[in-house]
Amino acid sequence: MIRVTELRLPLDHPEADLRAALLLRLGVTDAALRSFTVFKRSHDARKKTAIVLIYTVDCEVDDEAAVLAGHAGDAHIKPSPDTRYRFVGHVPADWRASERARPLVVGFGPCGLFAALVLAQMGLRPIVLERGKEVRERTKDTWGLWRQGVLKPESNVQFGEGGAGTFSDGKLWSQISDPRHLTRKVLTEFVKAGAPEEILYV
Ligand SMILES: Cc1cc2nc3c(=O)[nH]c(=O)nc-3n(C[C@H](O)[C@H](O)[C@H](O)COP(=O)(O)OP(=O)(O)OC[C@H]3O[C@@H](n4cnc5c(N)ncnc54)[C@H](O)[C@@H]3O)c2cc1C
Repeated sequence: MIRVTELRLPLDHPEADLRAALLLRLGVTDAALRSFTVFKRSHDARKKTAIVLIYTVDCEVDDEAAVLAGHAGDAHIKPSPDTRYRFVGHVPADWRASERARPLVVGFGPCGLFAALVLAQMGLRPIVLERGKEVRERTKDTWGLWRQGVLKPESNVQFGEGGAGTFSDGKLWSQISDPRHLTRKVLTEFVKAGAPEEILYV
């Protein structure tokens, strides 16, 4: 895969213009561009009257080596980094989970949730222990504090399914300083679970 950075287009550009800009930048034909995905999209809003979108795009092209060689001195056309998540291991094929001790995960906040998910993806059968209530119940209790000032010490913004972030306004990590691309794994799982795909690049 090839990563192209600094593709700049006007804020209200038609969707097709991104592909056209990519073709122009790479100097390849439409047929040679097999696929592309937006890795990042940011805004340059320094000029309020001409806001620009800046794209980082990963693409697959015919004869990738030749395309890269043709842009050898271009800092904005490089091989894409490998952002795949690396599991620390997987259970052997003959692993009989029913006969083995199961890993325990304590707490079902973001950390516990992903620890349990990754353990399950490794082939284990984690058990999650959560001291708080299910999300619907704790939502009522949390609003009880925020609206009526009634604190339930065991059911509040801190304790319960989803952890503390359940009541966040949804800000997500930007991925900018994440050399191991761990955030990518988190965001990819969110998308698999139904989140809008654009969280992967906005
Ligand atoms: C109102 C609010 C808004 C926020 N907004 C944002 C945001 O927009 N973006 C952002 O990135 N971050 C936000 N945060 C911070 C974010 O929520 C935390 O960084 C994150 O939840 C920490 O995750 P965690 O899994 O480590 O811990 P927690 O989310 O605290 O989860 C710990 C879990 O363990 C459970 N637990 C504790 N003790 C036990 C026990 N003895 N046995 C069993 N279970 C136990 C708790 O009930 C809880 O469910 C916000 C936090 C709050 C409170």
